[in-house]
Amino acid sequence: MKKTAATNTQASHGNAAPASGNAVPRVDPLPRIGNGFDVHALAPGLPFFLGGVRIAHSKGCIAHSDGDCLLHALCDAMLGALALGDIGKHFPDTSDEYKGIDSKILLKKTYELIRKAGYIPGNVDCTVYLQAPKISHRIPEMRAVIAGILEMAPDAVSIKATTTERLGFVGREEGIAVQVTVLLWPEG
Ligand SMILES: [Zn+2]
Repeated sequence: MKKTAATNTQASHGNAAPASGNAVPRVDPLPRIGNGFDVHALAPGLPFFLGGVRIAHSKGCIAHSDGDCLLHALCDAMLGALALGDIGKHFPDTSDEYKGIDSKILLKKTYELIRKAGYIPGNVDCTVYLQAPKISHRIPEMRAVIAGILEMAPDAVSIKATTTERLGFVGREEGIAVQVTVLLWPEG
């Protein structure tokens, strides 16, 4: 995130050293925002994982991994914030290494990538689109799991759930969708 004196429009905010001669002023990295979206089909008899917890339900997600739609959207949001591609690029669903994998491991690996790039998560906001079952009583657990992996306070992790009023594939209980927005903060 280095800018030249000519393109640096942030100098007046005080985060750039004054230009002298040919020296390029150092500009501190800015916060980055990312969004993630994931969908999975639901099928009877599969385990149902969401937000790192197992939820009792007659159906679960069809997936190469454990199918945790929330954690996948969260990984995508974090990767997207730094323009690092998506979860499929880093953890391909054609690889045996990721077959049936616990998505908490994918989130941890994504977190390590973010840290390596010099960023920490600021806050996370997730919306789950699911007709059934009701998950609101499990949300505190999901927030704690995510906060634990991302080394952040649970009150910086928001998870909301909504139905789609029986409309569409979510409403027909054929699938689940999750949308996540994340703010990443430059470390130090
Ligand atoms: Zn997924």
